[in-house]
Amino acid sequence: MKISLVIPIYNEEGLIDELIPRVKSALETIDPQFEIVVVDDGSADGSLQKLTAQRKADKRIKILSLSRNFGHQSAFTAGLEYANGDVVAMMDGDLQDPPELLPEMYRKLTSEGYDIISGKRTARKGNKTKNLVTGLFHFLFKRMAHLEDLENAGNFSMMNRQALNALLSMDERVRYLPGLRTFIGFRQGFVEYVREDRLQGEPKMNLSKLLVLAADAIFSFSRLPIRICLTLGLVGTVVFMLAGLYVLAAKIFGFAVLGWPSTVLSIYFLGSIQLIFLGVVGEYVYRIYKESQKRPLYFIKKIYDNEEEA
Ligand code: UDP
Ligand code: MG
Repeated sequence: MKISLVIPIYNEEGLIDELIPRVKSALETIDPQFEIVVVDDGSADGSLQKLTAQRKADKRIKILSLSRNFGHQSAFTAGLEYANGDVVAMMDGDLQDPPELLPEMYRKLTSEGYDIISGKRTARKGNKTKNLVTGLFHFLFKRMAHLEDLENAGNFSMMNRQALNALLSMDERVRYLPGLRTFIGFRQGFVEYVREDRLQGEPKMNLSKLLVLAADAIFSFSRLPIRICLTLGLVGTVVFMLAGLYVLAAKIFGFAVLGWPSTVLSIYFLGSIQLIFLGVVGEYVYRIYKESQKRPLYFIKKIYDNEEEA
């Protein structure tokens, strides 16, 4: 059984010379016939040179060089589509996920009859605010999307060919891979680990990229935003019907006063609610538009997998 490991890389030149040897020695213990598929997501630093140098020494490293930065979900997708192992793992390239866990994942996958093994984070080291936001997202998302298994599982995972084919058969443009991976079902297992701080350099997923990813996850896996609008709309309607009755009564029984504050406040209130609802509807329209464009998720500039050339 051949194993492939997919790693997205975006401006990680300082990490590669530590990353590759650690990954290699972890994979050696599984099967020396492994392949490492590194996706260079349009790095602007020396990452690609570092990677090609590593490949020169070891042809088991394949490099997909994307035509620009497409974001890490697309980079993962590119690598997963290219990988040809019977078992395929995915892992971030910043050593926040320990490669040393791969043999344990493989053992569980193959000898305990699982189709998918995800790494579950029991704790996170590193930036406190970011970890708080991530933790809160996982707490809410699990409940919203009814993907109970998902809490605290990220991209770090391993799956067999059958599960991978199912995952790749969903060709939606707006992608949240951990959600999709849980959605497909099959027998899912976990290994627990502590998520380290990144070994070196700044996170490439800043807070705003993370928020976009969170919004993608929520909008594509849950109806909650629509439900909130609908519920608030219904409550609002009841409240304003009662208020309308009161106004009519006031008119009939002659105790109506010139109400500047109440008029202005209800206009403000209704106006802002409508704007929020329009925003939510807009999010959906935007997503429908994105899907209907059917643009490729990434373009490959060059594949380094030819045995003859470097
Ligand atoms: N990454 C990528 N493209 C991007 C952003 C990140 O390929 O546009 C890679 C990055 O090099 C790293 C992994 O995705 O290997 C995770 O990125 P990061 O550590 O910034 O994410 P976080 O740990 O904050 O979720
Ligand atoms: Mg990271």
